[in-house]
Amino acid sequence: MGLMSGLVEVDQSGHAERAWVIEAIRKLKADQTRSADTHLHAVPVPGLPDVDLYLKDESTHPTGSLKHRLGRSLFLYGLCSGLISEGTHVVEASSGSTAVSEAFFARLLGLPFTAVMATTTSPTKIALIEREGGRCVLVEDPASVYDVARDLAEQARGHYLDQFTYAERATDWRGNNNIAESIFEQLAMERFPTPEWVVVGAGTGGTSATLGRYVRWRGLTTRLCVVDPENSAFLAAFRDPGCGETTCGSRIEGIGRPRAEPSFLPDVVDRLVRVPDAASVAAAHFLRSRTGALAGPSTGTAIYAATKLGCDMRVAGQSGSIVTLLCDDGVRYLDTYFSDDWVAEQGWDLGPYLAVLSHAWDHGVWMG
Ligand SMILES: *Cc1c(COP(=O)(O)O)cnc(C)c1O
Repeated sequence: MGLMSGLVEVDQSGHAERAWVIEAIRKLKADQTRSADTHLHAVPVPGLPDVDLYLKDESTHPTGSLKHRLGRSLFLYGLCSGLISEGTHVVEASSGSTAVSEAFFARLLGLPFTAVMATTTSPTKIALIEREGGRCVLVEDPASVYDVARDLAEQARGHYLDQFTYAERATDWRGNNNIAESIFEQLAMERFPTPEWVVVGAGTGGTSATLGRYVRWRGLTTRLCVVDPENSAFLAAFRDPGCGETTCGSRIEGIGRPRAEPSFLPDVVDRLVRVPDAASVAAAHFLRSRTGALAGPSTGTAIYAATKLGCDMRVAGQSGSIVTLLCDDGVRYLDTYFSDDWVAEQGWDLGPYLAVLSHAWDHGVWMG
């Protein structure tokens, strides 16, 4: 009888449930243990002999983009926070790549997965998600994806992964094999092992948050440059915190958002550069022609700005290194960003930007 002790005991522990979670975490760790790290390619730029440019190739993950890291982190975060257990219906609001990676991990764990996306999402992306065993729910209004995903998860008593809120905290920014630790370890034997700049785009903002926190934690002077496409709210939010919403969406897949997402942490960002969409696409074409690397348009955004930073360094008589990311595999975009007809339909003229890049790569001089 507990009458005298005054205790009220409410117990929700379940042996079977904990055993399932432990097994799920083992499966995620095993997947990571089987996987190799992604390459950090050195990219020679003839006009910039004293600036070393590096590309961290995130396209070689099993699901083809840097969202593989985020998908793994969000599942681990949900499992370790007691939010995902056996049979949990997992839901996400995503414009594509995140859902592809999450569907992969949901299948690994035997969990049902639903992605909520705008009706404008490309059939290629939908096919990739379905190939990984995910279900797609398409909604007319792109701004409603967050609420629809949250409601769906609630109705199913499932879990809304919510990449745009949790990306910045699901990854351990001190290290633990995150993208920042990997980059800096791979630079160890280079002539400029501490980069002058790291250049990344922002979708969730998670990657820039991890890098910005990591360089402080490690006591490094490396500066973080975020690149932003047209029609994205991050630029306004960076200039004037609390501000920023746009009405039309970004046209560069993977980066640029209609609202400043909670995972975007402007205080760790040193510089934000707005890049014209046609320049981003031109840079993806340019990278392909100069190096053979076939990357998506968000990689182009970063390459364009990284090239400008390299020229600035040369003019200032500075030497050093610049690191950026190859965010996803360009094979996904052969019918779109790499189709001349499709590019012309968008009204983009790549010519002037290709000329700027050629001149910069050959002579180290930024025109304009
Ligand atoms: C998500 C994404 C990014 C940006 O990464 P975040 O960590 O979400 O800010 C860049 N490029 C591509 C192709 C992406 O899918």
